[in-house]
This record gives sequence, structure tokens and C-alpha cells, in this order.
Amino acid sequence: MKQTWTCGCGAVGFTVAPKGGTRAVCYCDSCRGFVRSLGAGEILDKAGGNDLFQVAPEAVQCTHGADKLAWTKMTAKGPARWFTTCCKTPLANTLETNRIPFLTLQTAYISGEDRLAPVEIRVNTDAAEGTAPAAKSGMGRLIREFALRALKSRISGGWRRNPLFDTSGSPIGAKVIPSDL
Ligand SMILES: [Zn+2]
Ligand SMILES: [Zn+2]
Repeated sequence: MKQTWTCGCGAVGFTVAPKGGTRAVCYCDSCRGFVRSLGAGEILDKAGGNDLFQVAPEAVQCTHGADKLAWTKMTAKGPARWFTTCCKTPLANTLETNRIPFLTLQTAYISGEDRLAPVEIRVNTDAAEGTAPAAKSGMGRLIREFALRALKSRISGGWRRNPLFDTSGSPIGAKVIPSDL
């Protein structure tokens, strides 16, 4: 069953097939800083954690508003962090290339979020503001599940259907600097 991801104003929408995805809350400074820079700090948990849902790129499709997307980088080595230009809703993290099938959506804007698996993975908890809730699993499981999904996506060719990249492999939105968010 597909769920939807919708920005705050409704101008941008995606469908998401959640099966096989991995839900994780990240407590790193960059995730938190990105969300707060956009004025969306209310989606963070009490310890400053950002709830993320990692899926294969081919599990996500844009239904409308693909022309209203842009991305930034909080650090040189960090991921490309996507947001909507209509209402500055944080959307997703990818790499700057689609060749590595990494796509992590902001869980807060997925409809029927409670139908996703509950949070069992919390990562970068040493950078939490205060104490992060206890978790069943950490970075090891997140990386294992990513690696397995990425391998399947590469073998099937599904990685080519990343909704945030064009057919030549370039990001579909403009890059902006964090101070312009
Ligand atoms: Zn919007
Ligand atoms: Zn993070």
C-alpha cells in the first residue's frame, strides 16, 4: 500500500511504498540544524532528533510540484538535504549522485505515519540535546539495511528511478547555501 508525502502548503507531493524501508531517528547537529534553518523545528523530538524514513529511490514518486524543490549541504561531507521552495518544508536527504541509491524522507510529512514501522533505530545519540530515548538498534542496523536495499536497487536498475534526479543523473533542483535557506 502506498502512502503520501505532502509539503506544508500542499504544492509538492510524493507517493511512498513503505515496504522494506527503514525508520530511524538521527540526533546529529546537521539534521537538526537543517530542519531548524527552515523553521520546522517543531518536527524534532524532545532531544532534538529528526525522524527519517529511508527507502529505495524507486519506492518514491513525485505526483506534483517537482519544479518546487531545492537542496543544500550543511557540511562539505554531509548529504544533499532537500526542501520545498514553496513553503520550506524539509523533504529528504540524498547524496549528490544517484548512483548510490540513498534516499531518506522526512517522516513527519508522510500520511498515516503510524502505519510505518515504529522507531527502533536511533543514531548519533551522543549528539542529542539532553538524553535520547532508549533504542533497540543503532547505526549498525541502519547501515546493514541500507546496504541490502542499495544492492537490490543496483541489481534491479531501480536506482535509475530516483525522483530527485533527472535521466542524466543530475539533481532536479537548484543547490543553495545554508545561509539562504
Ligand atoms: Zn509547499
Ligand atoms: Zn543526522
